[in-house]
Amino acid sequence: MTVAEKISTLRKELHEHNTRYYLEDAPVISDQVFDEKLAALKTLEDAHPAFFDPNSPTQRVGGAITKNFNTVMHEHRMYSLDNSYNKQDLLDWEARMCKILGVTALDYTCELKYDGASISLTYVNGKLSQAVTRGDGFQGDEVTNNIKTINTVPLQISSNDVPETFTIRGEIILPLEGFKAMNAARIRAGEEPYMNPRNTASGSLKLQDSNLVAARPLDCFLYQIVADRSLFKTQLESLKTATRWGFYVPKHYTHAANMDAVLLYLNEWEEKRSTLPYEIDGVVIKVNNLAFQEELGYTAKSPRWAMAYKFKAEAVETQLQDVVYQVGRTGAITPVAQLTPVLLGGTIVKRASLHNADFIADLDLHHHDTVSVEKGGEIIPKITAINTSKRQPNSVAVRYITNCPECNTALERNPDEAQHYCPNSNGCLPQRVGRVAHFISRKAMDIDGLGAETIQLMMQNNLINSYADLYTISEIDLVPLERLAEKSAQNIIKAIAASIEAPFSRVLFALGIRYVGQTVAKKLAQHFGSIDALSTATADELEAVDEIGTRIAESVIAFFASTENHQIIAQLRAASVQLEQQAEEGPVSNALADLRFVVSGVFTAFSRDELKMLIEQHGGKIVSSISSKTSYVVAGDNMGPAKKNKAESLGVPIISAQELQRMLIP
Ligand code: AMP
Ligand code: ZN
Repeated sequence: MTVAEKISTLRKELHEHNTRYYLEDAPVISDQVFDEKLAALKTLEDAHPAFFDPNSPTQRVGGAITKNFNTVMHEHRMYSLDNSYNKQDLLDWEARMCKILGVTALDYTCELKYDGASISLTYVNGKLSQAVTRGDGFQGDEVTNNIKTINTVPLQISSNDVPETFTIRGEIILPLEGFKAMNAARIRAGEEPYMNPRNTASGSLKLQDSNLVAARPLDCFLYQIVADRSLFKTQLESLKTATRWGFYVPKHYTHAANMDAVLLYLNEWEEKRSTLPYEIDGVVIKVNNLAFQEELGYTAKSPRWAMAYKFKAEAVETQLQDVVYQVGRTGAITPVAQLTPVLLGGTIVKRASLHNADFIADLDLHHHDTVSVEKGGEIIPKITAINTSKRQPNSVAVRYITNCPECNTALERNPDEAQHYCPNSNGCLPQRVGRVAHFISRKAMDIDGLGAETIQLMMQNNLINSYADLYTISEIDLVPLERLAEKSAQNIIKAIAASIEAPFSRVLFALGIRYVGQTVAKKLAQHFGSIDALSTATADELEAVDEIGTRIAESVIAFFASTENHQIIAQLRAASVQLEQQAEEGPVSNALADLRFVVSGVFTAFSRDELKMLIEQHGGKIVSSISSKTSYVVAGDNMGPAKKNKAESLGVPIISAQELQRMLIP
């Protein structure tokens, strides 16, 4: 046998064993023999680099580093799915489709709705050529090197009936066992555990080092072949074909002859979901007949022929152990429920936010109550109900604290605000630490390497009193602090020194003036041009600035009324921090001149900041709330319904990031 033949035989064998092992769960050789064959192939490939093949089984182990992920246009847009929550939604959907199609009955496939990150795989001549994330549906990131490390993704398909090119879509998921094991390892290493399997799966796709991806127990579940329609007649047939081609299609899908059968399936899985080794958030129902699918087509957002049925959020009961009160950097108090740890949707829940005093009063929460917790879309679960039948007869209601848990100052509450505040902003440790943490955060001065714990240590050791003192410390001050290696101390000092380049608007944001967020800081910086001009501005002058109202104006004035803050600014000035607006570069184009944009929701292809910068670079204006003067709302995922209604009622067009980009093309 020639070397070429040896290599090709080994590759073919290993592809086959891989399928047997990972997809069919029926290996015919031992792990040891498999590893030996893989090692033999690796040796041959290393010795004969001319035979390199990106789809060789040796490439699964990772190793490739991707610095920047290429953006790739999807040949076919990746749509979202419409959601339904009850039987009536589904009957209405069926009626709409029957009307369009002129039929009286339809059959469906029901598939589980895997909760992960969507992926689109393209195969050319039976080989995996490209894996792209959903992105904004129009274009996504090419993450092929990372996807290759997932063992159930075939790198090469041997069936003789695969089309020359086709795309197949699926979901990258992280099974619960693997997720728990990853978290256990993180906790052992003293790291924060990951929040949930879905975010961890989608984060994994964008890791630059594919070795790290290979180490994560990811899986890829496939659900849709996008190819010439004449290839199959039904969704059911295409799922079966995908399985035959070597893709992993979970076996739980079913053919439902009518809507009654669909409803049975929904009930079955609503109950059985917790027995699955991975998370699902519902069921996807699809019209089975592909010719009907084609005729039904798409709305602006989703196919008319498919519907997601969302399960009710999972809820569990547990006990309230205690209520603790956290003090934020602005002095705002947040009450947090400490719960008896309980497993909810794959993660252990120990805490739930109680928001504010009214929330607790409305719940009528008593000490040691048995409460229902639910996980919504948010990361922190919420308490949705109290099981009063389990309440102890002598239990007392939770009474909101009257004094700061950290400094004992009497709390205050503005009549039109829900939150209580600790007014002792200069003496209350968590507020002082929080202000420094805010000052150094990524969007402010971007000083890396200092955690809240270190900041607290620095304050307790009287190294710093405020963020302005950061510019006076040296490496020798830092090293004795607990757990700070010399190297990291050096880096921190470097990062502090580098931060004096941060532009004025970021400095202004970093100061942590209440209500002065990034957008407001930019506006103020642009309008006043320097800290001196801003610090002497009157309320009228402040309110004359676009978007600045009484609340912000009062807060700015209060900030500059404090002598301590003047001292801090003098210190920053001495450290050469930018306290004046530098001459700006002109706009890139005037394509968006005179247009006012509201940016809302979550974007996948851009960060919100990038999007805002893009608009400003082309002469557009960013405004924070929708009014009749708004030209466009640029909407990502999860735009709130209130904003959507407001835009619609005012007739303000809602566009995607994609459509915005098109507006920039001259
Ligand atoms: P949503 O993100 O809520 O609009 O839901 C659409 C997403 O559901 C798609 O982008 C897929 O990634 C995901 N999904 C999970 N399971 C399935 C399935 N069986 N069929 C279609 N889409 C699915
Ligand atoms: Zn306090």
